[in-house]
Amino acid sequence: KKINIAIDGFSSCGKSTMAKDLARKLGYTYIDSGAMYRAVALYAIRKGWITETTMDEEALREHVSEIKITFAPNAQGSQDTYLNGENVEDDIRTLEVANGASRVSTLGFVRKELVRQQQEMGKEKGVVMDGRDIGTVVLPDAELKLFVTAPPEIRAQRRFDEMKAKGINPPAYEDILANVKERDLRDTTRAESPLRKADDAIELDNTHVDIEGQLQWALDMFNR
Ligand code: C5P
Repeated sequence: KKINIAIDGFSSCGKSTMAKDLARKLGYTYIDSGAMYRAVALYAIRKGWITETTMDEEALREHVSEIKITFAPNAQGSQDTYLNGENVEDDIRTLEVANGASRVSTLGFVRKELVRQQQEMGKEKGVVMDGRDIGTVVLPDAELKLFVTAPPEIRAQRRFDEMKAKGINPPAYEDILANVKERDLRDTTRAESPLRKADDAIELDNTHVDIEGQLQWALDMFNR
């Protein structure tokens, strides 16, 4: 019998890698809730409602229901994100969109709409969903809840290394670290469902744990 699995944690902590690996291993559906906030941000950036210094909340509030986000499997065995039918998987992975997502995710009406869509996706069971509020708000009845942590310095270094490995010229480490800390602060202090570990979640600090190690840990938690 299939269950639902909630995986929460700070940005760049490796939780989406864990969620993807676990879903593949179990034959479950992976849902990246952060991609949905990113898609909303991309939509708003394209419309000019978000710039580096401004956010037009009223325009977003009025048009949020026009934004339809879906997922479909890709050739790599993972999922791509679609915004009103357009594949935006690559477009939503930029730093600009990440910062926009961090900002739109503070808006109560955006969260309300996305949480509704996420709960709909979780109705069938057999879902591994990752994010910030999955165990606490989106799927409070999830049978397994995992919480992944690592210090900001470690997460910034991983992001730096990841960009290099992808052939992207990374910004200075200090700038990445500042960005990680800024997003942590916004995640933990927003009024609407701030990031926190659910009481019944099991925590892993993966500072000294590699990708195979964290998958094994998650499988052990699933099987126990
Ligand atoms: O995990 P990811 O970096 O893709 O998330 C993008 C942004 O969306 C994050 O900055 C986070 O603040 C927000 N988010 C959220 N709730 C979720 C998932 C992501 O507020 N469940």
